[in-house]
Amino acid sequence: MGKALIIGAGGVASVAIHKCCQNPEVFEEICIASRTVSKCEAIKNKLAGGRTKIHTAQLDADNTDMVIDLIKSFRPDIVMNLALPYQDLSIMDACLATGVDYVDTANYEPPDTPKFEYKWQWAYREKYKQAGITGLLGSGFDPGVTGVFCAYAQKHYFDEIHYIDIVDANAGDHGYPFATNFNPEINIREVTAKGRYFDNGAWIETAPLSVKKVYDLPEIGPKNIYLMYHEELESLAIHIKGIKRIRFWMTFSDNYLNHLRVLQNVGMTSIEPIDFEGHSIIPLQFLKAVLPDPASLGPRTKGKTNIGCIIQGLKDGKPRTYYVYNVCVHEECYAEVGSQAISYTTGVPAMIGAMLTLKGIWKKPGVFNVEEFDPDPFMEALNQYGLPWQEDFSPTLLD
Ligand code: NDP
Repeated sequence: MGKALIIGAGGVASVAIHKCCQNPEVFEEICIASRTVSKCEAIKNKLAGGRTKIHTAQLDADNTDMVIDLIKSFRPDIVMNLALPYQDLSIMDACLATGVDYVDTANYEPPDTPKFEYKWQWAYREKYKQAGITGLLGSGFDPGVTGVFCAYAQKHYFDEIHYIDIVDANAGDHGYPFATNFNPEINIREVTAKGRYFDNGAWIETAPLSVKKVYDLPEIGPKNIYLMYHEELESLAIHIKGIKRIRFWMTFSDNYLNHLRVLQNVGMTSIEPIDFEGHSIIPLQFLKAVLPDPASLGPRTKGKTNIGCIIQGLKDGKPRTYYVYNVCVHEECYAEVGSQAISYTTGVPAMIGAMLTLKGIWKKPGVFNVEEFDPDPFMEALNQYGLPWQEDFSPTLLD
């Protein structure tokens, strides 16, 4: 059916590429392009011999002209941006210049400000509409599946949604004293940012990780969950009409938080450049270099993740509650695609978003968040491609 240019060759890209190759009717030909071409070659070598034809290319995606040249020579039907959030705009510009559809899993962040905001990418709405191309934003798990879960609840179970709590739990154990399970720089920037949630039309800020509760998660058990800001809150607060409150919670072990506190106290999480023996270095980037590579956690991580949405509102004038979630087993992901569940839960929805766009099911001119499309084909594909979901109509509610 089509050709995809996949930018990035890290944890998420590797899973998405495995999934594209499991779906060769849709992904007939792919090109894996990244800064370090040996990583693209390694993925290609692992998957060679299947029905999807695989090419590789060296690419610095910060350079729009290089992306344009690659698009012109490979002529893809879609570009899957699975590099880092810093590359979003240069890749969106290249798609605009060449008239090719775009999908990503994380919103743009300027390298010098840890800010999760859609405004830079939403600014492309009119230009994409005029060009007749689709920009699909945030097609990972959170953002991504969480937005699809909310749209599904809205479509099938509620007349009005009032409260949404997104709960992201990882009960996996990799056996290291401290490691982040996706790109350490992005992960630490996210975790050390202030908490923020939407309440009755206003955004309420909280000190980083200062609001904590215990939630008893299906198949995982009781865990400490911490209120955080997460980028899908911004788009869901707009797209779920009538929403009164929306919050995001994530689990962290005491051990992880103790290490993070010390690293923060000694200045290792800072993104301000410092002078070190005549070189300018950014402490957080140096920390990334000494921490375990997230890709190396795959064979070591055991346990489950559970990510879902607890939703409250009205149906036919009566109060209703609904919980929809996915449980993913780290070891099973590793056995299937050679990656742990964090990369798996992001890479699978990236493939699904691209597949629905390629098939024309999620294709319309403009720039959209996932909850703006019909959730049903995406929910069906989650069950088919390894992220089955479960429902509960009487979950414990968070106060
Ligand atoms: P990794 O660090 O494992 O991989 C990033 C890849 O991008 C690497 O191959 C890296 O190349 C490549 N890259 C970085 N800069 C450039 C550049 N300028 N040009 C070309 N390639 C570049 O990250 P992950 O796979 O863990 O994460 C990928 C994306 O997924 C991130 O944007 C992350 O925020 C997002 N994500 C989204 C989630 C969701 O649920 N929505 C959850 C988890 C992650 P090199 O090897 O040379 O460094």
